[in-house]
Amino acid sequence: MPELPDLVIIQERLVQELPGEIIQAIEIVDPIVVRNLTGGQSENSFLNLPFEGLERNGPFLNFQFGSKNLVIHPMLAGRFSLDPKYKKKDLCVRIRFQNKVLNYADDVRMGKVYFTEPEYYNQIPKYTDQGINLLSDEFTEEEFLNRLNKSRQQTRAFLMDQTKLSALGNAYADEVLFDAKIHPKTPCYKLQEEEKKQLYLSIKTILTNSIEYIRKKQAPLDVKVRDHVKVRNRKNEPCPRCGTTIRRANVLGHDSFFCPNCQRMAGEQFIDWNKTY
Ligand SMILES: [Zn+2]
Repeated sequence: MPELPDLVIIQERLVQELPGEIIQAIEIVDPIVVRNLTGGQSENSFLNLPFEGLERNGPFLNFQFGSKNLVIHPMLAGRFSLDPKYKKKDLCVRIRFQNKVLNYADDVRMGKVYFTEPEYYNQIPKYTDQGINLLSDEFTEEEFLNRLNKSRQQTRAFLMDQTKLSALGNAYADEVLFDAKIHPKTPCYKLQEEEKKQLYLSIKTILTNSIEYIRKKQAPLDVKVRDHVKVRNRKNEPCPRCGTTIRRANVLGHDSFFCPNCQRMAGEQFIDWNKTY
């Protein structure tokens, strides 16, 4: 579930909750999600280490404990919870501190929890080849256009390419394309100059607004806040802009939701089958 805006809020909350905490126990409930990249030390080498910080690198959260790191890649379904009584079946790893408990849960077991150190980061798939941080000052229009103009990908695939932009997932890729009125399958090289600039602005606007929305909502950490999205998972609902029925299409193996009227392919004749003339 967590995409960039969710992870920003999870990071903000945990950074308030965990300072001063020292690891008392590590419970690995389902070892299938755990990877030990410490050069042969056991996970117990993390015991008694203090929480020293939490950073986000694209879709990863990196917890610093002394010179060691707990890197979590929640993928599609990973969730975090601070509930000390968390007992659901999706619980995978529980870290106990003196006063707090951090649970990592994942009902499809696609995410990963890495016990590691910086010298082993290159063994974490995708960790060291993340592209530009979309929330950083380096993400300028010029940098964006540089990357976009070199791409032969379909626009949606480009947006989700973490080696270029770090990092948009399925939900926010759809929202950005809807905001920019671009069909998900449009090849990057077919975008007009104004569309490219709009795409850049839409990334900034959608991310900023979504982060603010989720922050205000103050939902429990493990609850997905998605009621603000306009097209994602809204197949057969009316487009909030024009009323046309939202469609779902497969774009290179990913489900994509879009408005066939607002987001037309260049040169495409749109036939609205819902209308009776
Ligand atoms: Zn529309």
